[in-house]
Amino acid sequence: MLSLEKTKKWITLFTAQLLENKVYLSELDTAIGDGDHGTNMARGATALNDVLDSKNPEDLPSFLKLIGMTLVSKVGGASGPLYGSAFISMAKASQESSDLSVLLEAGLEGIQKRGKAVAGEKTLVDEWVPVIEAVKQNKLTSRLIEESVQLTKEMKATKGRASYLGDRSIGHIDPGAMSSSYLFKTMMEAGVYDN
Ligand code: ADP
Ligand code: MG
Repeated sequence: MLSLEKTKKWITLFTAQLLENKVYLSELDTAIGDGDHGTNMARGATALNDVLDSKNPEDLPSFLKLIGMTLVSKVGGASGPLYGSAFISMAKASQESSDLSVLLEAGLEGIQKRGKAVAGEKTLVDEWVPVIEAVKQNKLTSRLIEESVQLTKEMKATKGRASYLGDRSIGHIDPGAMSSSYLFKTMMEAGVYDN
């Protein structure tokens, strides 16, 4: 069950991870993209910290919506609108349910509506799909989160900037899958997921 308190903690931990791993995420993106994923996500993290300092949404749907709108408006690149859409979709779903798997599924739907990627195309979708499956089966672990990122290494990118490389994208971790792994690890740390 997602509560407002735990979700706030989750986002605070997530933004800290993004800022801490800014250089690493951009390094991953240098190999198969344009080297800005860390900068993009760090800009988003700073914008989220700023907005949460000045605004204090009082319920879960407004909180998630504020996160999503901030990411869409402040983060450049493909990742801003994708993460933004995820949170905006979760915000809508949270008006009806506070079940974690329901909300994450809505988030993934938002990502896929926006980016049209399916599993196996070496994008952050390849992190969301196995994590949601594990949440549903009550068996999410940090190991599964990490292993799912590693699995993107052998995939060939067919969506996003990395797809321009074709076969040369093989052998590199997808940066968006890595940033999503921080999202899900901090979700566990915040106690949002309790099995
Ligand atoms: P850009 O590619 O515009 O430079 P970023 O570097 O911030 O944006 O983000 C790149 C990440 O975005 C990729 O590693 C991938 O995970 C994700 N991504 C790109 N295109 C898509 C898409 N169509 N669907 C889902 N995820 C995508
Ligand atoms: Mg990039």
